[in-house]
Amino acid sequence: MRQESFWSACEAITGPATVELEWKQLAGEHYEAAKAFLRPMQELATRYPCMRSYTCGCDHRVVIYSDDDIVAACTCNPRACDTFRLTKSDIIIYELDRPALYRAMAKTLPLDIQVTDIPHLRWTDQIGFYTPQKGFRLPVFLTIQTEPDNFRNTVLDLLARNRESFILMAPTHDLCETDSKELLNNRQTVFLALSDIFRIDESGVFVVDEAYAAVMEALICQSADVQKPDEAQPVCRIPKSVFDQEENYRIIWLHGKKLEALGKKQAEVVRILHDAAKRGRPEMTFASIAVKMTDSPTRMSDVFRYNDSRSVLVKHVKADIYRLNV
Ligand SMILES: [Zn+2]
Ligand SMILES: [Zn+2]
Repeated sequence: MRQESFWSACEAITGPATVELEWKQLAGEHYEAAKAFLRPMQELATRYPCMRSYTCGCDHRVVIYSDDDIVAACTCNPRACDTFRLTKSDIIIYELDRPALYRAMAKTLPLDIQVTDIPHLRWTDQIGFYTPQKGFRLPVFLTIQTEPDNFRNTVLDLLARNRESFILMAPTHDLCETDSKELLNNRQTVFLALSDIFRIDESGVFVVDEAYAAVMEALICQSADVQKPDEAQPVCRIPKSVFDQEENYRIIWLHGKKLEALGKKQAEVVRILHDAAKRGRPEMTFASIAVKMTDSPTRMSDVFRYNDSRSVLVKHVKADIYRLNV
């Protein structure tokens, strides 16, 4: 099922942050799935959408007399509808939970999450780096704007700050007008919409659309022109005499020594670190390993206990950094 409305909602709401009712109205049938990407903020709303079926046109003003005496008054002149009552939970503001969104992407995409706030650039984050098998590394940005002009200014700003290719994401294609597209294309920069990247699966959860992820990888390789032989870093080949695996990483050969019966999580960790080693960037933080796993552990020692002979597969480089021991 392709969804548009949650992502359109993100571009209709400043922040994006608003009360539950407005998220429900704008995200429509995708609201249930979208809840995983929303989190409550500390502040309470001072405005509330009109709840009549034919709205008066104003955002009602919230007046808090006490915790259990809260009302929303029409601010139209002359007044067009009646004041209605609200509860405290009605006026809680929910914002897009960006970290949850990034984690959901990193489960499937080769995304190394290193969130950085960009000074003086509103509603824009550097999420981290896109690091596919091809052996390159592109910065990834997410901007959430509500107007095409602000979107264009963000594009200009990012192009000025980044001399190399990068990936720019936004909730939908709607604000990326022709001139913004040209600006991005001229610099071999890739624009992606979250509405293409995510789909809602059978259990009602937003997941990365694997079919689109493959299209995306091809698009990124082509547009960012990273396959020039003199620029692309070769995929790092690890000789089979050093490392080999069977049965989906349940059996590993390390320097000719056989390690058997790896647990599900152990096999996952080894596969993730092997992929990273093949990409020529073998070192990974524990968090970026955990996020790619089906069921994230809290620490490496939960996966490889210190007295487990199979723990020789993973090398603890320093602090929170691990690599495959090859
Ligand atoms: Zn009203
Ligand atoms: Zn009104």
